[in-house]
Amino acid sequence: MRIAVISDVHSNMEALSAVLRHAGSRAPIDGIWCAGDIVGYGAEPGAVIAALRARGVVTVAGNHDLAACGRMDTAEFNPLAATAVEWTAKQLSGAEAAYLRGLPLVATPAPQVTIVHGTLQHPEWEYLLEPAQARDHFALQETPYSIVGHTHLQLLIEEGDAGAPPAVRAMADGERHELGERRLILNPGGVGQPRDGDPRAGYMLYDDGAAAVSWHRVEYDAAAAAAKIELAGLPPFLARRLLIGR
Ligand code: ZN
Repeated sequence: MRIAVISDVHSNMEALSAVLRHAGSRAPIDGIWCAGDIVGYGAEPGAVIAALRARGVVTVAGNHDLAACGRMDTAEFNPLAATAVEWTAKQLSGAEAAYLRGLPLVATPAPQVTIVHGTLQHPEWEYLLEPAQARDHFALQETPYSIVGHTHLQLLIEEGDAGAPPAVRAMADGERHELGERRLILNPGGVGQPRDGDPRAGYMLYDDGAAAVSWHRVEYDAAAAAAKIELAGLPPFLARRLLIGR
């Protein structure tokens, strides 16, 4: 089973198309798992929802998905994010909003894997970056591996031996990790809005046949995605940040 693992697509159809093309270029993929934030920030929420649903995505809800369909209010969003949420809510059809409302906070797409947007202790909001947070997350993780998003950073977190803290490592394009006994938290990075200074779209391939996971970066037409954001009347910073990966 060869799965494209994605997160934080954020209504960026250009980035999503490039990632799915790249993922299927060497061999066909058998599925797509997504750690949430399908919508928000970008200009094409409907197209992204349709493309993912057509390919049978298994996804959890992220904070932007929850806010755009009215399951969460925007009080805790920064002003730019809240503006984008309100714009997104107006674009969604009744069926698209209903789809987002129906998404779970936690999913188990395979017996070995749990997916959540933030952390298992705080699915909607927590940015999983520190060993102490990873330890709390591992305490709730019932599968060998879990997939998280929300930080828009490509990370590998390995559980420590008894008493030792988990090890958090940033992953680069083409890096690969063998799946073994040690429990893991995997972050594929941001498809539609990378934040590590590299504007290329990020994603991960999970291959249980090869017992390995690999991280990838893909060039895409960020200028076209940025132009659509400006044309939609969304805050110009949301367009500019795509070009610098921040
Ligand atoms: Zn996000």
